[in-house]
Amino acid sequence: MNEDLYQSLKSRVNGEVRFDRASRLMYSTDASIYEIEPIGVVIPRTHDDVFATMEIARDFKVPVLPRGAGTSLAGQTVGDAVVIDMSKYLNRVLEVNTEERWAIVEPGVVQEQLNLHLRPMGFLFGPDTSTANRATLGGMMGNNSAGSHSIVYGKTIDHILEMDVVLSSGEGRTLREMKCEEAAARGGLEARIAELVRDNRGEIERRYPKIMRSFETESSISSNSSSAPKARSPQCIRQRSELNRGPRQQHFALCISQTLSGLSARATSSCRSNPPQSS
Ligand SMILES: Cc1cc2nc3c(=O)[nH]c(=O)nc-3n(C[C@H](O)[C@H](O)[C@H](O)COP(=O)(O)OP(=O)(O)OC[C@H]3O[C@@H](n4cnc5c(N)ncnc54)[C@H](O)[C@@H]3O)c2cc1C
Repeated sequence: MNEDLYQSLKSRVNGEVRFDRASRLMYSTDASIYEIEPIGVVIPRTHDDVFATMEIARDFKVPVLPRGAGTSLAGQTVGDAVVIDMSKYLNRVLEVNTEERWAIVEPGVVQEQLNLHLRPMGFLFGPDTSTANRATLGGMMGNNSAGSHSIVYGKTIDHILEMDVVLSSGEGRTLREMKCEEAAARGGLEARIAELVRDNRGEIERRYPKIMRSFETESSISSNSSSAPKARSPQCIRQRSELNRGPRQQHFALCISQTLSGLSARATSSCRSNPPQSS
């Protein structure tokens, strides 16, 4: 089966299709403690490659697992699936609109790469994940990442306007924030999600932790890919993200206070003119 799957992928994907043992071992770990060998790895070069991979995986009934930088800590990017590495080729900033404060990026764009691109324009993509010089926008969306300045910059979900995704059926969709009423009126997938949210709203609200990092259900019913089961989550191939307007915060200080066995350690970073790219 794997040989047929490999040949099918090879015949349609322009990018790399790697089913050899060395590649599978390389992709069997991420930043977590887990280790699971994938079925194989696809490294798409184009958006069509992502569509082709999803269609073939659907036909062969195998799970897929998108991957950015693989810095997830809970095993999100390892699994018995076809891993799709979005970071190697799909990593271009496609458009920046400073008037309307948005950018269109491919999912493999690294946060720091985007911010270096935006810096001369006086803008910033805020959520400052401490892995910002590795983490991709696709992975940040998958994890709803945020950083130590999340009170200022919020979480990734707060800055995503639209996502072009490929569903496990192979169908392309543009997802964006919408109210349940609008989703219900659109029918199809959106209506089904709205119904799920409506039917289970009480339970979802009761069980979700009341912390700043939880997912919103009120208005963002379809804008986060990791609310779907991991191996069947939509593949994000393009996204429109909201940018923070400059000038950027002028002073940042991080204060960590820790008490251990009666000893108190206190570290305060010096004020800096730019937000830290990593901590
Ligand atoms: C030392 C260290 C510090 C960290 N600090 C922070 C922190 O401050 N804040 C924080 O939030 N996290 C932190 N993390 C966790 C992690 O770095 C971040 O969540 C990061 O944003 C993940 O990005 P990534 O590109 O590595 O994603 P990955 O780990 O590759 O993927 C993350 C998830 O997104 C999915 N995914 C990836 N790309 C796509 C795509 N194109 N379409 C659909 N789904 C996709 C994956 O399947 C997976 O479920 C830290 C991790 C480490 C190791």
